[in-house]
Amino acid sequence: MKNWNFKYIAFTLECIILLLVAIMLGISIRKAVRLTKETEILQEEVKELQAELRKVEKEKAEKETEQVTEESKEVMTELQPTATPIPTATPTEAPTPTPEPMYLEDLTGYVPGDIIDDGQIDPMGIDRYFTSSMIVEGDEVYNRIIGRSYYENDNIQLQNLRYIKLIHRNYEGQTQVGELIVNEAIEADIIDIFTEFYLSGYQVYSMFLIDNFWTGDGDSSDFASIDVNNTSAFCYRTVTGSSTNLSNHAYGLAIDLNPLENPYVRFDGDGYGSSAHANAQAYNNNRSSAEMPHVIDHEDLAFQLFAQHGFTWGGDWNNPKDYQHFQKELG
Ligand SMILES: [Zn+2]
Repeated sequence: MKNWNFKYIAFTLECIILLLVAIMLGISIRKAVRLTKETEILQEEVKELQAELRKVEKEKAEKETEQVTEESKEVMTELQPTATPIPTATPTEAPTPTPEPMYLEDLTGYVPGDIIDDGQIDPMGIDRYFTSSMIVEGDEVYNRIIGRSYYENDNIQLQNLRYIKLIHRNYEGQTQVGELIVNEAIEADIIDIFTEFYLSGYQVYSMFLIDNFWTGDGDSSDFASIDVNNTSAFCYRTVTGSSTNLSNHAYGLAIDLNPLENPYVRFDGDGYGSSAHANAQAYNNNRSSAEMPHVIDHEDLAFQLFAQHGFTWGGDWNNPKDYQHFQKELG
């Protein structure tokens, strides 16, 4: 009996527990269902809100586009010309002429040593800056040379000499005015050679008449001119080292070019050269135009041009050698 009772109670308890569990489950399910429903509603609301947001944004964008279009229309209106001007007939005026470069007509007004701006030199009329004239008793050149590099003699007449005024490149590459007196027999050669020098940029230190350095006699004046590297030609004097033989310079048939770098050199028994000019010592031996500017050798333009015009070069003498010296023998 006791056993049955116990079984009954246990069964009842089991039933109660099951019932409770069922109730709990039911509650949970209902809750879950309700939550699901609520979630669905919320999702629906979110969707609606999103749709609304999109609508608002779309409207806003449309409004802005309208505004921009309106603004650009306004701008376009402003930009549009109020009225297209009718083109008036253009008067056929002559075009203002481009000013001609102010080239120098010639070297009038310029004296030897003057520097001329390259822009003033007419490259198409270069011969206007290489002129030759006779020397007439009483004129400016005559007054400079009489009693100095020239005096009356039986060997060379004034009428056989020519005064050449020209331009050359100085050691800075500038255009400088220079002068020379030469025999009329080489006047054309000298003008040709120095025109070529100028066009090739060949540099000549300075070109003044030897009278600018006059010290009282031909020999010492020649020394003074050479000592300042001056290029010159005519001087009525004897050969260096002789009291009777006239130099080719006395006839205006010789020229000394850039004498500092091209000295008059005597060689001793060992072949070592020396010159009378202390400032020219670096140029007595081991000379090379390729390595030393303004040095004359067989590769130098000066040698080549003078040789083409029939001149001989003092650098080809045996001993002494006169590297600055070019002369022409008359046939
Ligand atoms: Zn000479």
